[in-house]
Amino acid sequence: MEQAVLVLIKPDGLKKSLTGNILTRLSETKLEIVAAKMVRVSKELAEEHYRHLKDKPFFGEIIKYLQGDLHDRKKVMALVYWGKDAITKCRTLAGATNPEEAEATSIRGSYGRITTSGVYENVLHVSSDDTEAEREIKLWFKPEEIIVDLYATKSAVLKDSPVKAWAEK
Ligand code: UDP
Ligand code: MG
Repeated sequence: MEQAVLVLIKPDGLKKSLTGNILTRLSETKLEIVAAKMVRVSKELAEEHYRHLKDKPFFGEIIKYLQGDLHDRKKVMALVYWGKDAITKCRTLAGATNPEEAEATSIRGSYGRITTSGVYENVLHVSSDDTEAEREIKLWFKPEEIIVDLYATKSAVLKDSPVKAWAEK
């Protein structure tokens, strides 16, 4: 089945200069990258992304983690991969959530760690099923930022909503 999946290279992955390694590993899947960008993550975006974990004791820490507060790297790289069995392929390469339990050759097994405060710093996020992937892709990307039509869209005219544009030299 053709699927889309959201992949985030988290702030620890960026700080450890792992972008190239992670993209190379993911390229083994032969999936297509249909969207990619750098994002400065607001508290609202981080909390919405991890809203299913709101009641967990580590919620506050993973919000700070995704925002880059733990790594002095206030950004993540967000990508959408598309193709056959995209979710299983990307999650298998990523490895288990707990980097100590992840297979040693997986991305998280190779580069992840558990902090002294117990947070799993596991260098990337991968959506875990179709419903989560759709919710997350719509959260992180606008329709025009994705080069294929993944989900139904509607036309909207935004009145009086200022946008930033390039200034003349
Ligand atoms: N996490 C953690 N401790 C836990 C469970 C999760 O620090 O006991 C962090 C970890 O960074 C993980 C993120 O919270 O990637 C989201 O958790 P989820 O259960 O969705 O795992 P994932 O889908 O990322 O494998
Ligand atoms: Mg998850």
